[in-house]
Amino acid sequence: MAPPMSAGGFQNQLKEEGVTVVEVGDWEHHNRNHKGPWGPVHGVMIHHSVTSGSEHTVGICRAGRPDLPGPLCHGVITKDGVLHLVGYGRANHAGLGDDDVLRAVIAEKALPPDNEANTDGNRHFYGFECENLGDGKDPWPEAQLEAIEKVAAAICRHHGWTERSVIGHLEWQPGKVDPRGFTMASMRERVRDRLK
Ligand SMILES: [Zn+2]
Repeated sequence: MAPPMSAGGFQNQLKEEGVTVVEVGDWEHHNRNHKGPWGPVHGVMIHHSVTSGSEHTVGICRAGRPDLPGPLCHGVITKDGVLHLVGYGRANHAGLGDDDVLRAVIAEKALPPDNEANTDGNRHFYGFECENLGDGKDPWPEAQLEAIEKVAAAICRHHGWTERSVIGHLEWQPGKVDPRGFTMASMRERVRDRLK
């Protein structure tokens, strides 16, 4: 049972881990808290944005789309390895996922298949959109992968979580494929090594 960090504490934790942080507008107060609860938090979820270009990607993730109001995550990790903070609180990133997966994340056990969409993920996960087309061809620069590793590790370090609290959207919600282009197993290994 972990309450979310404060916005200020969240930013400090990221900077202490060595993440390059850019604040976008009133990110600390931009959220969907009027639509449902935020917290307790149990993990970190990684996404790809299906967009190209830093400015364009950050703009969409802050404002949202006609069918899905923003923020679409807490931070956007662009290809240059910069984290752009676009929102804080409940954000539209995780959707409905599998309660068995959530139980496994809480217990920090191996993940079962995500075959149900019965649990509110926006309540329980910090979420990060990573600039990538998600076509399996668009490259993931090392600077971006390193930023993902640092962001995830920073949050795990604060909450006392292991790398098993870091999951991909594809491990949460049936039908999702993100992130595509690297494996979450490989990212968890990086987070594990960083937390040593
Ligand atoms: Zn996603």
